Amino acid sequence: MLVFKGKSDLKLHLSNLYSTKTTIGFVPTMGALHNGHLALVKKSIQKTDFTVVSIFVNPTQFDNLEDLEKYPKTLDNDLQLLKSVGCNAVYIPDASDVYDGNITSENFDFDGIDNEMEGKFRTGHFDGVATVVTKLFDIVKPTVAFFGEKDFQQLQIIKKTVDKLKLPVKVVGCPIHREKDGLAMSSRNIRLSKEHRENASIIYKTLLEVKKNYHQNSIEDLELFVKKTFKNNLLFELEYFSIADENTLKTPNQKSETTKPRAFIAVFAGPVRLIDNISLHD
Ligand code: AMP
Repeated sequence: MLVFKGKSDLKLHLSNLYSTKTTIGFVPTMGALHNGHLALVKKSIQKTDFTVVSIFVNPTQFDNLEDLEKYPKTLDNDLQLLKSVGCNAVYIPDASDVYDGNITSENFDFDGIDNEMEGKFRTGHFDGVATVVTKLFDIVKPTVAFFGEKDFQQLQIIKKTVDKLKLPVKVVGCPIHREKDGLAMSSRNIRLSKEHRENASIIYKTLLEVKKNYHQNSIEDLELFVKKTFKNNLLFELEYFSIADENTLKTPNQKSETTKPRAFIAVFAGPVRLIDNISLHD
């Protein structure tokens, strides 16, 4: 497995592949890798000829300094895991290599899908995400890029960016990987206290309950149910719960207005913010 710290070496290596019509798969990550990440990498290895993974904690997508500073870093283990699944190349830049010294976000027009959910609670988050992803796409020039449905709104933001800028890359979404008790795998899970970790399955269990009752109950009643569930729980604090259409990410006034409803949730477990979502239409 090749490891690149600088984009010029990576670009030089990849330039030889473009001319041989090798398909390049790309999986951008922020490291502290788990089986959710590895599923994306395995899919890329299966679907493309040469897989590049980036590990880069992108400062411009954080609006909370503590969250950025405390973001877990497990580089040696990450490299070992990537090697073990057969990844071809890893890009581990620092911010100056990605941003050429100007570490700021560009402004994007996402047709409003950035104003919902994560966008409401994390100022500038999606401009930061789209800035880094377009920069990484420009460096790697992948044929296909793989993103997890765990960050469903992010996946839609990337698809929107690729469409609007007419970038020559296919974006593929991959299902959420979960721990045995249902907690969505996340790099942040290692920051959970023992007590929070032991009880964190409440998030997925609540989503499953919403899914089970979606057809019998109104959206308002389901929202109320989730609010009550977390009000009665002293360990976890609900930031938002939303039932929204997968494409517009807006809550429909009536269920008939959406054919693709999905439930989205963000919860604080002490200082650790966890997100999850579930399809309500399959
Ligand atoms: P991150 O390192 O958190 O930025 O995630 C890198 C990529 O892995 C993103 O496309 C995430 O959506 C995806 N990902 C993270 N956790 C999971 C999971 N539990 N299941 C599937 N994909 C995931």
